[in-house]
Amino acid sequence: MRFNQWLENIAVYEAGKPIEEVVRKFGIKEEDIIKLASNENPYGSSPKVIESIKQNSTKASVYPDDSMLDLKNALATKMNISVENLIIGAGSDQIIEFCLAAKINPQSKILIARTTFAMYEIYAKHFGTEVIKTPSHQHNLQEFLQYYHQYKPDVIFLCAPNNPIGECLDSADIVDFIAQINNDTLVVIDGAYQEFAAHKDVKKKIEPNTLIQSFSNVLYLGTFSKAYGLGGMRVGYGISSQEIIQALYKVRPPFNITTLSLVAAIAALQDHAFALQGIENNFKQMRHYEEFAQEMDIEFIPSYTNFITFVLKEPHDSTLICEYLLQKGVIIRNLKSYGMNAVRITIGTQEQNLKVLRLLRDIFEARG
Ligand SMILES: *Cc1c(COP(=O)(O)O)cnc(C)c1O
Repeated sequence: MRFNQWLENIAVYEAGKPIEEVVRKFGIKEEDIIKLASNENPYGSSPKVIESIKQNSTKASVYPDDSMLDLKNALATKMNISVENLIIGAGSDQIIEFCLAAKINPQSKILIARTTFAMYEIYAKHFGTEVIKTPSHQHNLQEFLQYYHQYKPDVIFLCAPNNPIGECLDSADIVDFIAQINNDTLVVIDGAYQEFAAHKDVKKKIEPNTLIQSFSNVLYLGTFSKAYGLGGMRVGYGISSQEIIQALYKVRPPFNITTLSLVAAIAALQDHAFALQGIENNFKQMRHYEEFAQEMDIEFIPSYTNFITFVLKEPHDSTLICEYLLQKGVIIRNLKSYGMNAVRITIGTQEQNLKVLRLLRDIFEARG
């Protein structure tokens, strides 16, 4: 069968290896596997979330509330916006898809950083759109501006903080950048890790409400998958002008969020203390990785997120290191497919990190 010819150069997204696969392949017991490959919350979800899912478990036979007003109201209050400025997606992934479906076509271009979240490129290619990347791995707004003028993209993605590298633009610089972009170009600010960055450094804190007051062409994305510990429930959100939200609603399928996901997200928002504790632990635990890197002379990128990226030098090879750890039941992320000899490690619990660092020490001391 022939398919759309523009799908030919799409690589299927390589999600962090699921635990089940490692169980099958290496015969390691599930409880002995440490998964630090998808930036999930190592402390799980709030007990309030679990309670709420249990209490609502009898509602599986009826369709969810498609207005999603309970969750929207809770989010609108927290973010100080109106519900008309909100759309909920099955993960913020789905909102990336919505905004591209609404805005691009095979004649369009989108502009992204060279090394950033893979789904921008994958979704753009679903629509046959050309993807322009700035030269630097990290976000460089001078390059973005130059390429914006040169290529006239319909959509620009800024990932702040950036996955899989961990760096984060200052929010003031983002605002200055958007001010130079014309109104008909959609600027998407992906804030999947904003809770972490805002905690570490106020200069990184993005205020979606003031952004959308100043600019009608900005879409801010947030998610419950990271700091709020709901990766398995698939809930994310977009904040934007009413004009953009209405366009996104035209491409949204009905009932895109399940009943249990909706109640889980509401409960997660109510337990901010749980999220905060995880964020504080994250940066405390990250120090162990930074100290290890300094000791072993490994380059790392200062991280504003819940992962750290080690950039390796010969003879160290990211693929070999990932395979070695995998055999020991530890799943981390290889960045070879991004053209980097680097690994991305989600910051785990203290116990997990000690084990990972012990294994890494074996490798770096043996060959270093
Ligand atoms: C994890 C992640 C998302 C979205 O995750 P969902 O689970 O789909 O909400 C979006 N952007 C970046 C950069 C991410 O790392």
